[in-house]
Amino acid sequence: MIIDCHCHAGTGGGLTGPWDAAASLGKYLRRASLAGINRTVLFSMIHSDYAMANHEVARIVASRPDRFYAFAFVHPDRDRGHVLAMVRIAVENYGFRGIKLHHHDGRITREICQVARIFSLPVMYDVMGEVSVVELLAREYPDVSFIIPHLGSFEDDWRSQLALVDHLVRHPNIYTDTAGIRCFDLLQHAVHRAGAGKVLFGTDGPWLHPGVELAKVRFLDLAQHEERLILSGNLLRLIAGVQPRSGPIAAAASAAAWSRGGSNDRRARNRFSTN
Ligand SMILES: [Zn+2]
Repeated sequence: MIIDCHCHAGTGGGLTGPWDAAASLGKYLRRASLAGINRTVLFSMIHSDYAMANHEVARIVASRPDRFYAFAFVHPDRDRGHVLAMVRIAVENYGFRGIKLHHHDGRITREICQVARIFSLPVMYDVMGEVSVVELLAREYPDVSFIIPHLGSFEDDWRSQLALVDHLVRHPNIYTDTAGIRCFDLLQHAVHRAGAGKVLFGTDGPWLHPGVELAKVRFLDLAQHEERLILSGNLLRLIAGVQPRSGPIAAAASAAAWSRGGSNDRRARNRFSTN
């Protein structure tokens, strides 16, 4: 079983570049299939309305629920006060298994960490090189798992990536993914120092070729059980505690959310507005 933990899907909210334009999965799925990748975690790209973007991703997941998992994308500032309602819809209605956010939109907030804690969701947070926040996340939310993709920097900022390795080693709840890491020696260094249990296979599809990204993991030349952790075991462990649909924690959160009213995504979001 090979699971890609990091792939974007749906229609982006802008026309700045591939990160906020349409991400068609056709070519990705053909390439992933050739590479032997069985499943993929999908989330939106940068978008101006993540409730809408998550809904679009949910429709894609529903078309092939045996092939896809999904994470709910949230905006730390624009969705402030709405995160519980948005994530509840994503988990209970769509069956999503994690939260995704990007420093491009803003810095991670306590609200997002607390909602992740309620639903036992892993949080994938692209820190864009601002690795120091990981120390605080690890210390203040030790029961929440954080995946810091690209070893902390898609730009391959060596200092940030090197610094993240130390966090992987020291903090049990901090993970990374392999997506887009160009400096192979740093990836190898991270796995050797932090262990295969702290690294997840990801591709940043559909922009990067999933087969090329997978080759990096193969060339790590790990023992079979270590490679298996990176290719699927770690992700499956991180999403195993998620309480989808009818779990008691989700039900409690749901009751709290709905006690304030709302019958669809938009109304729920409006009801939870704090301003
Ligand atoms: Zn990405």
